[in-house]
Amino acid sequence: MRYLKNIDPEIYVAIKNEIKRQDETLELIASENFASLAVLEAQGSVLTNKYAEGYPRARWYGGCVNVDEAERLAIERAKKLFGAEHVNVQAHSGTQANMAVYFAALKFGDKVLALDLACGGHLTHGHPHNFSGMFYNVITYGVDKKTETLDYARILELAKKHKPKMILAGASAYPRKIDFKEFRKICDKVGAYLLVDMAHIAGLVAAGVHPTPVPYAEFVTSTTHKTLRGPRGGFVICKKEFAKKIDAHIFPGIQGGPLMHVIAAKAVAFKEAMSPKFRTYQRQVVKNARALARALAKEGFRIVSGATDTHLILVDLTEKGVTGRDASDILEEVNITVNKNLIPFDKKSASTTSGIRLGTAALTTRKMKEYQMRQIASFVTAAIEGSDNPEKLKEIKEEVLSLTRRFRLYPELIKEK
Ligand SMILES: *Cc1c(COP(=O)(O)O)cnc(C)c1O
Repeated sequence: MRYLKNIDPEIYVAIKNEIKRQDETLELIASENFASLAVLEAQGSVLTNKYAEGYPRARWYGGCVNVDEAERLAIERAKKLFGAEHVNVQAHSGTQANMAVYFAALKFGDKVLALDLACGGHLTHGHPHNFSGMFYNVITYGVDKKTETLDYARILELAKKHKPKMILAGASAYPRKIDFKEFRKICDKVGAYLLVDMAHIAGLVAAGVHPTPVPYAEFVTSTTHKTLRGPRGGFVICKKEFAKKIDAHIFPGIQGGPLMHVIAAKAVAFKEAMSPKFRTYQRQVVKNARALARALAKEGFRIVSGATDTHLILVDLTEKGVTGRDASDILEEVNITVNKNLIPFDKKSASTTSGIRLGTAALTTRKMKEYQMRQIASFVTAAIEGSDNPEKLKEIKEEVLSLTRRFRLYPELIKEK
């Protein structure tokens, strides 16, 4: 970064410090990961200079020959990776991907049935302060009170009662497998479209570690930066009959010029996701999540729904006498980052919460395995139980640092002076 260092030392320092922070932290935020240096190179390239409104070979600008190739590769690879009929790789984010589908499939005011936020849903699934909640009539389904898992009979009941135009499946904080075939059956019974938002589990789906929604849904949306481990961004998969509509609603509907450097980086990530190494990685992500859940349960934490089938775990802290917000603050003091998170039927507010959400995608990228997950469970427990003892917290932080030093992130960048 020698040019940056000369021209803008403040930003240079912020980035250097962020490399150090990422390297010295145990990253358990379920929506985060570490993109490869190849992805970072593509994203930091001259493609950022190029305007390319339109689509490959149908642009509103000249000079698109190279970015056309990048976008063509991204589309082709995503289609192959997910077995998709049509893919739009221009969505700037998961939110933009969802917006394009809402706009393409619905009219303002139409009814949508989606997972409740406290049960794991996302802001774009109907939060009143999000476009989805403002423009559409969103009815929510939850999880079963006892099992804390999706109750498909209940979802069917709600669908029959409300006759939604579209049903959303997919979540930000649901640790268990989702049965997309069952969702398809429900949609067919009430004549609704199915939108599967696989933002969190796209990497697991690509690797065949979670069943794919693609054959069952008219629309599948995703981010590229969570388990999929690409650049920050989104994409939309749809059936051929909706291809033109989706493309038109991304551009010119809700976006202008596509981020060609990000699209090139998406192509790289899709290529990486096709490798056997990536499948091994995703299998380890789930093994690590299961090991972490088991170890935390042994330490007396209640795991929501009792287990996990994915990269993420939801922990109910009620019996530990600490809120999600406080737990997240305590853990940050010892260099462990997590999310505070609502749990199903939470009695606390969204800013306090009774739970935390943990994910293993990032640490598995650093090559950590089950043994380290058990160590981390003991750090988490010791920090939460010893939070009023600054000496103890200091000790735990030292142990965290020694673990991060054994599993270096981007060693190539750390060496650079
Ligand atoms: C993360 C996420 C999104 C949104 O992604 P952004 O890129 O942050 O807009 C959408 N849906 C779900 C289920 C998510 O988890």
